[in-house]
Amino acid sequence: MSNVVEENLKTVKEQMELACRLSGRDAQEVQLLLATKTVPLEKLQMAMQAGETLFGENKAQELRGKFPLMEQYNRVEWHFIGHLQTNKVKDVVKYVTLIHSVDRLRLGEALHQQLLKENKTMNILMQVNTSYEESKFGVPPELALELVEQLSQFETLNIKGLMTIGKLNATNEETRHCFRLLRSIQAQIREKNLPRVEMDVLSMGMSGDFQVAIEEGATIIRVGTKVFGERYLPDSYYWNENARQDD
Ligand SMILES: *Cc1c(COP(=O)(O)O)cnc(C)c1O
Repeated sequence: MSNVVEENLKTVKEQMELACRLSGRDAQEVQLLLATKTVPLEKLQMAMQAGETLFGENKAQELRGKFPLMEQYNRVEWHFIGHLQTNKVKDVVKYVTLIHSVDRLRLGEALHQQLLKENKTMNILMQVNTSYEESKFGVPPELALELVEQLSQFETLNIKGLMTIGKLNATNEETRHCFRLLRSIQAQIREKNLPRVEMDVLSMGMSGDFQVAIEEGATIIRVGTKVFGERYLPDSYYWNENARQDD
């Protein structure tokens, strides 16, 4: 018996495969991360039972709530994809295998200090604001090289690549521009050969634009609405600039 989450997953996977085929990419190169903010546990479990293993949360508190309930499914992996406040770092490094949203030196420093204490390392992506939209986080593209150089000095951080949120409610071409910009920044960073900087991961593409992102080289797409349905909280609750005041 299938449920709505399972059916949506099937549709998304078909669209992923088609986008890969049309752009001559191997479907194995692109991972589907399910963005689970506000999603109730029953739906999470449906996704898990359908075989999904990669989930992303935006807030430390929600992550802390969901993590223990999902621990029984031992293949499950969590990533952190939201704006990370420095006072939440301690919590987040406990639960996740990759942080997508490192976008400022102070956050890198806070992570480094915490990881040193725990004698651990952490995989991270640097988030770039390729759309220049005020309502989103991320380092401005012209400061990306400088920031990645600074972050590469923290020996507890493995910088695996870049993340961006494409321009929303935009034409495919505008969104494509964001993704291309991210890829060109990736190429520039690669040339620098920085320590602990690999740059193999491009986390880009959401429900509305993942096909374009795949065409432009995404290796992780982050999908919520298309699998779980509409959220009851607006994204501004997660992406609001007001959050910046405490950091
Ligand atoms: C919510 C969210 C997503 C998923 O968005 P949908 O449009 O629901 O697919 C992806 N990335 C980030 C950072 C998010 O906050």
